[in-house]
Amino acid sequence: MGSLRTVDTERIKEKEHVVQDGMDISGHWNRMFEQRVIWDYPTDLMDKITSLEGGESFGWCYQCGQCVPVCPVDIVGSYGPRKLFRQVQTGMDLLQSPELWKCTTCMNCLRVCPKEVNLIQIMPAVREQAVLEGYVPPELQKMFENCAQYGNPLGESPRKRADWAKNSDVPIPIMSQLNRPVQVLWFVSDYPSYLKRGIDASRALARVFQALGVDFGILGTEEKCDGDSQRLAGEPGLFEELATHNIKMFKKYKFDKVVVTDPHALNAFRKEYPKLGVRFDVEHYTQFLAARLSQLQPMLRKEIRYKVTFHDPCYLGRHNGEYEAPRKLLRGIPGVQFTEMWRCKENGYCCGGGGGGMWLDSFMADHVSERLSERRVREAVETGAEVLAICCPYEVSRFEDAVKSTGNEGRLIVRDIIELIDESMRG
Ligand code: SF4
Ligand code: SF4
Repeated sequence: MGSLRTVDTERIKEKEHVVQDGMDISGHWNRMFEQRVIWDYPTDLMDKITSLEGGESFGWCYQCGQCVPVCPVDIVGSYGPRKLFRQVQTGMDLLQSPELWKCTTCMNCLRVCPKEVNLIQIMPAVREQAVLEGYVPPELQKMFENCAQYGNPLGESPRKRADWAKNSDVPIPIMSQLNRPVQVLWFVSDYPSYLKRGIDASRALARVFQALGVDFGILGTEEKCDGDSQRLAGEPGLFEELATHNIKMFKKYKFDKVVVTDPHALNAFRKEYPKLGVRFDVEHYTQFLAARLSQLQPMLRKEIRYKVTFHDPCYLGRHNGEYEAPRKLLRGIPGVQFTEMWRCKENGYCCGGGGGGMWLDSFMADHVSERLSERRVREAVETGAEVLAICCPYEVSRFEDAVKSTGNEGRLIVRDIIELIDESMRG
């Protein structure tokens, strides 16, 4: 017989009497060994992240791999918290790496992570540090500057923010002119104020509000970007500046609730603005309308004979737990044949626009095999749907571009849910 390796008895730790959950695990049943040296590599790059406020949970990863198959970026490239952790452990400085900007903060990894490694806190914390040290992709930097100067990421004139309302076929009251309390303060957001396809949806929502007799007003030129994506992309100072402005405007007026077009605004108003001392009732427009479906439905006269699938926005679904309101509305439109994509609800895919991704398309092109929006469009086409329904203003341009770049023009159209409701209502 060869020699058996003997246990160094000095290292054995045993407790003489232990009963755990009614089970006697005394003596050798609870045997442990004194810790050996397990850090034989430098930890400074890991410490750089875990020492940041919000970055702590990065160090909790135990490499189980649950997060990798659900990460939307991994599906079109190589990514996910497990891989990031390993890369940092083996010498990657996340602050200076392009890997830092690929996360869309979609939250799917946190949903499955048994250790609660929280990329929704880690990413903004590390990005903030990277921004301070000057490692920021130029297109993102440009967006930050636009927001700081004009109050919107597009660099559009703040004076023109309410121009869309002037040419609408229903009156769109502006709070500063109304001079009275309203039931609903409608926070319109950037893309629905400035870009054609966003404006289409805004006008549709205004018509539906009017048909329902909703007493509403908008902030118009007094509104600025909600700031949530800027916060997640590493600019908390800019977020605070934008939020402080909006809060000042909210305080100027009296209203029962705020209704938002944009799930990112919903997230900011529910979770971040209260930290700045303001709390108000806020709903996404799909939630507001779903609660009034019985009033709305008799007005939906025209059958919309489409096969429709729906893309859950990360910041309405996973971040704010709302999956049913959009589906309730879609199923309530006469003629609509609703079908799900296989990745939906809690496991919904990401359009690529969250956490700053909206402004990083050219950067991402160098790091993924196809855009996340292109992957999603292919999944929508696979269902046989003719319409990809959305309810986040980031998505319409992303998906319409992706329909073109994947050669699906004529096969799939992208419509905001409110456009489908409006189409049915107008007959
Ligand atoms: S699921 Fe969590 S613990 Fe597991 S590998 Fe991913 S980040 Fe690490
Ligand atoms: S938040 Fe989303 S994109 Fe970021 S690492 Fe997690 S799963 Fe991937």
